[in-house]
Amino acid sequence: MSEFDIIEKYFTPNQCEQNQVELGIGDDGALVNIPETHNLVVTTDMLVSGVHFPENTSPEDIACKALAVNLSDLAAMGANPRWFTLAISFPEINTDWLERFANSLMKQAEFYNISLIGGDTNKGPLSITIQALGQVPKSKALRRSTAKKGDYIYCTGTLGDAALGLAILQGKQTVIDDEDRNYLMKRLNCPTPRLGTGLSLRSGASAAIDVSDGLINDLQHILDASSNEEQGDIGAVLNLENLPLSDSLKRYLGEVDAWEMALAGGDDYELCFTVSEAEQDLLITSLSNAGCIFTCIGRVTGKKGIELQNAGARVNLNLNGFEHFVETVNKPTRVSSADG
Ligand SMILES: [Mg+2]
Repeated sequence: MSEFDIIEKYFTPNQCEQNQVELGIGDDGALVNIPETHNLVVTTDMLVSGVHFPENTSPEDIACKALAVNLSDLAAMGANPRWFTLAISFPEINTDWLERFANSLMKQAEFYNISLIGGDTNKGPLSITIQALGQVPKSKALRRSTAKKGDYIYCTGTLGDAALGLAILQGKQTVIDDEDRNYLMKRLNCPTPRLGTGLSLRSGASAAIDVSDGLINDLQHILDASSNEEQGDIGAVLNLENLPLSDSLKRYLGEVDAWEMALAGGDDYELCFTVSEAEQDLLITSLSNAGCIFTCIGRVTGKKGIELQNAGARVNLNLNGFEHFVETVNKPTRVSSADG
């Protein structure tokens, strides 16, 4: 089966109507149109078998995660998803696997209104690279570098679930209840990109990032990027008692373990964002009206570093024990964060 046959047969292009595809799959490149009033947002993420997901992950979950991690980056930029390309290598042509992968991928794509406009397939170790393209009105994109001293720090959803899911897979944690286990595995394998929240954040948020490497790491990216000559080095205080934790996580972990997992576990794909005191009320109203789930977890300070507090008292936690799937499997060969 040739490369073109595979794409034709399994990845029937979905034409989401408003996506202005002038020429889709089939030529040397795709042609898309973007309004002059908008910026094109481009992001890419590669998932390698055994590095970013366990080798026995189902094709449905691999497809789901490969698209979701890219959509999460678009969400963190405040972008509307429009188009994506797919590059995939697999050791051998397994039609059952391909069909399941493609069905799951195209179903997700349909749901999120993003059109497949190109692809490439090759023989090799299983890896999936998706490039997602979105659009955002000019000057409205969310950035990491625009947080200000005094801003409040928020995050969406709950934190630490994916890391607990990974601990279950690795046999480090036993979860007896089927419902809890299914929930935690779904959080690990098929995260929900917070696209709606990203759109609502365009008006009001001062900075945003998606939480892929653990809240502490990703918040630090915002603090580093936003430290500048004008305001000097900035830092943060995080209020541990406010960290949003799922019931499933709380059922199995004590307070300190739960905090550590929420702060340093990876793969949550929630959004972390900042907002000024002046904009806060309006943003909360607009996020609530849009049905977003979010929690205030701290504040940006003028002191470098991230200080952890519980009910106002300083707390020291050991956050080194938590690692990404990337690091636990392939230690210590992780080359870069590959963070989009
Ligand atoms: Mg990201």
